[in-house]
Amino acid sequence: MTIPMTENAVSDSQPPSAKPLSFVSTRNACKLCSPLGACIVMRGIEGCIPLIHGSQGCSTYIRRYGISHFREPIDIASSNFVEATAIFGGRDNLFRALDNVTKQYQPTAIGVTSTCLSETIGENVPMYLREYLAQNAQTKPVLFHASTPSYRGTHIDGYHEAIYAAIESITEMNTGKNTEKNVVQKKADRINLISGFVSAADLRELHEILTSYRIPYTLLPDYSETLDGVAWEDYQKLPEGGTKIVDIVSMPEAAGTIYLSKTVNPDRNGAVFLQDHFGVPATNIDLPIGIENTDRFFATLNHITKQKTPAVWEKHRGRLIDAYFDGHKYCSGKRAILYGDADFVVAMKCFLEEIGVVPVLAADGAEMDFATILETSSEFKPDFVIGNSKGVYLSRQLGIPLVRCGFPIHDRIGGHRILHLGYRGTLNLFERICNTLMETKQNAAPSGWTYI
Ligand code: SF4
Repeated sequence: MTIPMTENAVSDSQPPSAKPLSFVSTRNACKLCSPLGACIVMRGIEGCIPLIHGSQGCSTYIRRYGISHFREPIDIASSNFVEATAIFGGRDNLFRALDNVTKQYQPTAIGVTSTCLSETIGENVPMYLREYLAQNAQTKPVLFHASTPSYRGTHIDGYHEAIYAAIESITEMNTGKNTEKNVVQKKADRINLISGFVSAADLRELHEILTSYRIPYTLLPDYSETLDGVAWEDYQKLPEGGTKIVDIVSMPEAAGTIYLSKTVNPDRNGAVFLQDHFGVPATNIDLPIGIENTDRFFATLNHITKQKTPAVWEKHRGRLIDAYFDGHKYCSGKRAILYGDADFVVAMKCFLEEIGVVPVLAADGAEMDFATILETSSEFKPDFVIGNSKGVYLSRQLGIPLVRCGFPIHDRIGGHRILHLGYRGTLNLFERICNTLMETKQNAAPSGWTYI
């Protein structure tokens, strides 16, 4: 999805000056690998180890990306394809990997995510897993598989696919096979929240919001602790935290599911799966970034829980509106280039428009690389760039500042603790944008400023 826009446009239509783009090769990709997204979800399930079915290099790359953003050790296993495996298939490697991982980690779950290579040679991982379980009846970990070839999607697609795979496989433990609609005792006071690819701080914010409603809930995935934990005395192979398997098993009992994504593939939508198989009503909404999106999030929570927004959040909303009054003169009318994953871009575009910033170009990376963004964007005269660290060269070449947010943040610390969601997250983003613009103006002024 790419959304170039004129100054006044609010639709997705292209401006007359935009040239048709052709994509022959990628130059400085604005997207990440699909299994990477799946691995993040898997690390957000308690006691779960991701197992990459493919070559060693894929797991190394994903670990490298994850570690540099989250600043935490991230164990990711691999079935370690070699030349012979690529020719004769990886069944034996996968079985050995499952044995080794089970022995070394004693995990509660193993999430198998396939790579470009294993998908290309047609590995039938679901069949392998059934065979493995038939041969190893005593296998303790729950096994599930996310099909994630990177040539079919980006990291956000892998993320959503892993959520679907986890829900599909683990809810089987609730009522048996989910081939038909299952009747499960519903609990009016239970809710499911499926999160998009957000920061650890965002997940903690979602926990705080859900806790304020005083109802049982399942937040999936939850890497707020596993990928942003405390200092340890000794290395922990499986850090504490994550969505409990038992809470995923309970998802069919909820009164409703909120899925913070409207870009998820409708055929692989975990909330729709729960609706179709267990009658749990599904609501897909955008990430709660900006007042409009956050209001919609609370309205949906209120509808499912039959409660009012807890007073504490009304206070935060009021504080945010006050900040908009204070800061609008610094950002109103400014022009931004926005990029990131599809969920992030859609929500951020709404937020930027809300604060008077014109998103002159919004790209989710699935169709546009950074070289094309650069070629396309210079004519729009942007004032700043907003997105992950991968846009640093873009911002340098355009000579405008970069407001870092989203994933990945490799060149600063604390990227995983940037708060984006809810009224407090919106306030944080708003202040970051205003302060970046003020700093840029201040630095460019010969005399400097003490008041702006
Ligand atoms: S080969 Fe595919 S799965 Fe492996 S790291 Fe590259 S994009 Fe990801």
